[in-house]
Amino acid sequence: MSNGPIQRERDAWKPLEVSTSDRARVCFDVKGRGYCGRSSSKERMSVWSKVSCADCLAAARADEVEVA
Ligand SMILES: [Zn+2]
Repeated sequence: MSNGPIQRERDAWKPLEVSTSDRARVCFDVKGRGYCGRSSSKERMSVWSKVSCADCLAAARADEVEVA
């Protein structure tokens, strides 16, 4: 069965998939939480070069934190 218009409509409004899963995500550690506000990630680092969480990096850029 091919996707009908309703399914296509749903797909269009579906939230974007997060590229990093909780297990793979490495957040920047801020007092036991991620910089992005998540506490679900398995690993947190206090070195930006090791951080893989896109939300942490985006938040850091927004805050003009030096991540390099
Ligand atoms: Zn994060």
